[in-house]
Amino acid sequence: MTEFRDPALAQSIIRKIKSLAPQDHVKFCHVCGTHEFTITRSGLRTLLPSNIEVIAGPGCPVCIVPAEEIDEAVWLALHGVTVVTFGDMLRVPGSETSLSDAKTAGGDVRVVYSVTKAVEMARAEPGKDFVFFAIGFETTAPTNAAEILRNPPKNLSFLVSHRLIPPAMELLMGIGDIHIDGFICPGHVATVIGADAFSIFPKAYGMPTVVAGFEPIDVLMAILMLLKQLKEGARLDNEYARFVTKEGNVKAQRLIKEVFDVSGGRWRGIGRIPNSAYRLKDEFSDYDARLKYEIKTGPARDIAPGCSCHLVIIGKINPPACPMFLKTCKPEHPLGPCMVSHEGTCHIWSRHAQV
Ligand code: SF4
Repeated sequence: MTEFRDPALAQSIIRKIKSLAPQDHVKFCHVCGTHEFTITRSGLRTLLPSNIEVIAGPGCPVCIVPAEEIDEAVWLALHGVTVVTFGDMLRVPGSETSLSDAKTAGGDVRVVYSVTKAVEMARAEPGKDFVFFAIGFETTAPTNAAEILRNPPKNLSFLVSHRLIPPAMELLMGIGDIHIDGFICPGHVATVIGADAFSIFPKAYGMPTVVAGFEPIDVLMAILMLLKQLKEGARLDNEYARFVTKEGNVKAQRLIKEVFDVSGGRWRGIGRIPNSAYRLKDEFSDYDARLKYEIKTGPARDIAPGCSCHLVIIGKINPPACPMFLKTCKPEHPLGPCMVSHEGTCHIWSRHAQV
């Protein structure tokens, strides 16, 4: 969609942003790896007035998987179970090792692009036990729910590690020294849960809030809309109306509700957030890898010594503030999760930021 990358249009929005920029410093927060990619690769931060800051919150679905859940997947891979997952998960460190290490040590770890492939594998090899490591936000949960409702073979179970975005945003507002002035909400999550799922932020907290798409023009428009809200009062604006409706994808929401309950969940570097995770409903317990196997893992360590991912994940620092950034920690040799995934802030900055 070239009109959403049009330099002349971008310049005109930036002029409007400059004309609306307040005297004081303002900080807008997005919670999406794709937004961070757009912002950093397009150099949008360098085009904004210096007192408008855009920070990256916990929007990388791989980075926020707590070490203890990666440890569970590693344990399974080292105990005769075939672990199937997305490529980005392979090198994310658990407490001591990653799934890639488990594969090197002889574990059967396979990479797929969708859960459907995991189902096919389990069907094709009925003598083997398979576990699908189900990670991701509200966007990936409906596909997994749909597969579970189709009664996949019983030699496949699920290590569910889904997380929900709005509760993490609520938590961010409570971190006193971050001081967020507005939220840019992830358009793809909103296509599933609906724009109205973010209405709590302006309604209950008076927080300017915009649901935004992923092209440079989308992000600039979101910033402009947030600045207008700072002047006129907080509300929910939907910049991504070409894909996002108020109510979202009702069918996908129904699938999620049929298969998952909402529970508290740990986020790497953040800790436990109430109502921020999905767990399988009791009627699907046959597919719950945590019930099927007696997984034994030791105490978990989310953050390796010297790594600042816990600060990067909540947007408290930018990657260059970590002493390891592009020194001992690089995409080829990542120390923390934020450098592994293509949606991780450190990875994105290492590839695209001018630092
Ligand atoms: S640069 Fe590496 S060590 Fe530092 S915060 Fe990022 S991932 Fe962690």
